[in-house]
Amino acid sequence: MKTIQTSRFQILIATHSGMCFGVRQAIEATESLLSSRSATILGELAHNPVVQSRMAHLGAHPGQLQNHRAQTPDVVITAHGASDQDRERWKRQGYRILDTTCPLVRVAHQKLANLVAKGYFPVIIGKEDHVEVRGLRGDFSQAQVILQEKDFSKIPQVEKIGLISQTTQPIERVIDLVKALRNHRPEADVTFCDTVCQPTKDRQRSLDDLCRAADVVIAVGGKSSNNTAALARTARAHGCQAYHIEGPSDLRDRWLAGARKVGLTAGTSTLEVSVQAVTKRLQELGS
Ligand code: SF4
Repeated sequence: MKTIQTSRFQILIATHSGMCFGVRQAIEATESLLSSRSATILGELAHNPVVQSRMAHLGAHPGQLQNHRAQTPDVVITAHGASDQDRERWKRQGYRILDTTCPLVRVAHQKLANLVAKGYFPVIIGKEDHVEVRGLRGDFSQAQVILQEKDFSKIPQVEKIGLISQTTQPIERVIDLVKALRNHRPEADVTFCDTVCQPTKDRQRSLDDLCRAADVVIAVGGKSSNNTAALARTARAHGCQAYHIEGPSDLRDRWLAGARKVGLTAGTSTLEVSVQAVTKRLQELGS
């Protein structure tokens, strides 16, 4: 990990942190479209207010994936993906679609479809109201979403249960939940396809290293960013004092009192410029 020394403390920057290739590609493709004509973005391109205001500045209109009505002939499906049903419905209504679904989200859709084709009852480990999970579930109305052991009661008494995960769930928690389900339903064939994406795993592994070294961890990302919130939660679970902030103005000097090493990480929707701004503010506070 990269380190920066200040007179008060050392700043440790996680080896893997910040914007992933999936969100970056979606932003680049959308900016390229907006340079020639306006478009409606169906949801949040990134759970990040800086990105959202930049898109609005470039002429993007806000829209909703499930509305199937937009102010412009061009619509953008975000990196979080969509169900085939929703995609087809937009097409049938004559809209031109820029589909920026991340390739790793497409893999999750494919794995779920394969499990269903093999006769498994589909179960998604994730947050029920998350846009990616709604997209995964959209083509399989029978699918159930679970996040903790108390959700096992949602799964009917079937012989074959096929699980995938939301791409940004912490892998350790996912594996623990799969083990718990196997113990809970020993008579069933419980098959798990690991669809937690590699950038998420890299960030979580780097966070583990950061937590071993730092006294305080700062996770930078939009307040609605699920994976930034998960980084802060995981750091706390490791026994670190951790804070989720959107930008440098959210930092509080009192959080750093007595700290010798301050760790810095960022979610997969966080721009490098936000991380740099927080680093600069930490350097000011440390000098
Ligand atoms: S978090 Fe993973 S799945 Fe989601 S956009 Fe980034 S790389 Fe793709």
